[in-house]
Amino acid sequence: MTEPTRHVPVLVVGGGPVGLALAGELGWRGVGCELVEQTDGVITTPKMNEVNARTMEFCRRWGIADAVRNCPFPADHALDVVFVTSLAGHELARMRRPPRGARPPSKDSPEQQQICSQLWFDPILQAFARAQPTVTLRYRMRLESFDQTEDGVAAELHDLETGRRETVRVQYLVGCDGANSAIRDRLGIALEGQGTLGHPVHLYFRAPDLLAQCGREPGTFFLAIDRHGLWANIRVIDPANGLWRLMVLDTDGKQTPDSVDRSALLQRAVGRPLGVEWKGLSIWTRKSVVAERYASGRVFLAGDAVHQLSPTGALGMNTGIGDAVDLGWKLAAVLQGWGGANLLPAYDSERRPIGLRNVRMATEFHLAHGAFTNEMAAIDDESEAGESLRRQLGDSLTKSVGRMFRTAGLQLGYRYEASPICIADGAPPPDDPESFTPSAAAGCRAPHVWLADGRSIIDSFGRGFVLLRFGEAETAAFKEAAAARGVPLTIAARGEPEAAARYERRLALVRPDGHVAWRGDVLPQDSGALLDRVRGAT
Ligand SMILES: Cc1cc2nc3c(=O)[nH]c(=O)nc-3n(C[C@H](O)[C@H](O)[C@H](O)COP(=O)(O)OP(=O)(O)OC[C@H]3O[C@@H](n4cnc5c(N)ncnc54)[C@H](O)[C@@H]3O)c2cc1C
Repeated sequence: MTEPTRHVPVLVVGGGPVGLALAGELGWRGVGCELVEQTDGVITTPKMNEVNARTMEFCRRWGIADAVRNCPFPADHALDVVFVTSLAGHELARMRRPPRGARPPSKDSPEQQQICSQLWFDPILQAFARAQPTVTLRYRMRLESFDQTEDGVAAELHDLETGRRETVRVQYLVGCDGANSAIRDRLGIALEGQGTLGHPVHLYFRAPDLLAQCGREPGTFFLAIDRHGLWANIRVIDPANGLWRLMVLDTDGKQTPDSVDRSALLQRAVGRPLGVEWKGLSIWTRKSVVAERYASGRVFLAGDAVHQLSPTGALGMNTGIGDAVDLGWKLAAVLQGWGGANLLPAYDSERRPIGLRNVRMATEFHLAHGAFTNEMAAIDDESEAGESLRRQLGDSLTKSVGRMFRTAGLQLGYRYEASPICIADGAPPPDDPESFTPSAAAGCRAPHVWLADGRSIIDSFGRGFVLLRFGEAETAAFKEAAAARGVPLTIAARGEPEAAARYERRLALVRPDGHVAWRGDVLPQDSGALLDRVRGAT
């Protein structure tokens, strides 16, 4: 490695959605950051489509929620999930989901899950990160190697356009370098879990008016089940341009792009021959794994580099963006001098349990697909027996496989229960994947309530700590202790009875990532000790 040419506070490796979110979050906090991405950043085969409610709350904080909401996916397009024998065949069940433009507001959040393909979402994140004065995005730039010492990391970068190599000296390196993370390998961090679950195939194609041609009522996500079982899903990605994706849930693992019979698979999914414009094909590995550690020394990992899960439940990128937000404020705190020595280690303690939780749920959702194989011979019959089988299957599919579309609890209910930097105050309500029960118990996401001025209470979180005060409570000592430690703190007196009831205590301390660190009716005798704990200094 050559002599370092430059010093950079944080180097983010990987410009997928997680790296871009982290760079943007760091920039939003004024932290110097460089992101390197080996490709040109253009998405050719989009994977992600569902940006969940919690990610949307982060986008709201970053000022990009409107851009995501108003992406080219039409506001009046039905979001229904439909179980079919094929697109032109029988409909077994339909889970009605109103179009974005007709959805009632959520009581749990100012935001809701949005459909926004990676085709549009990544460029929105990219523009957000690029707009931060302290952030530099460098495409066609690859991290080749790194060496860390106690006081920094030397990173060797390779400019793939010019061939030039340079070494930069960084204080922290974050590997957002995806499932095959070379950084994780270099750190010797193993992946644990069930391993490989299958080898799905994706086929991208353009077929305007596909549903009309099949005589099918509009919808967004179609699951295809025939006499061999539930075998594929067909999803519209960009309705205005007629862009679709057929995902064959599993293959024997020996297929190559040349051996896949695209037309036969499409005919099976559609129910009859159909001419389409083929746009792409990819074969990937469905996994269920979590890294044994999320960091080593000054090198951190986030996103698919540390958790790989089945897309069932739309938790992959969303979990990674949660990592980015958790790590972002901690890195900022330490670089700005007010974060203690135990703050960065708490990244692993907080986020790894969430990785395990989400991988477990995604795997459960995926395994539910395999239950429908027996006695399916009559599924296409026009007889009464056929009709009765389809009705019965429709009910059970909605109950079991349909769970992956009922994830309010998974999206908003994750909490840092065993966190060393939150001060537990009793058990929060159960973490139910399907239904969300708001709670302001320490470790939970500070719940949303509308304020008298029309904002959500969560709009006041993000830049520093916020001490919410409902009613009379002495806070002067706390303010002084925060100032003495350089901890950014706002004290917000709130008079709304609904907010007071939701937070259940007279005081609640909300962290920069919007999670509750502590709550109580009075401050402890030693405000400094409380602050030291939540900033990772004790
Ligand atoms: C079919 C499908 C549907 C999905 N749907 C959803 C969904 O609806 N919602 C959801 O939340 N998730 C979804 N996911 C998961 C989601 O796509 C991934 O979790 C997400 O893309 C991971 O983002 P990442 O930034 O961690 O990694 P990646 O997107 O893999 O990005 C890693 C980047 O690092 C770069 N890189 C690697 N090594 C280097 C290096 N040495 N130097 C420079 N650059 C490097 C790579 O080029 C790459 O661009 C889906 C996945 C699939 C397969």
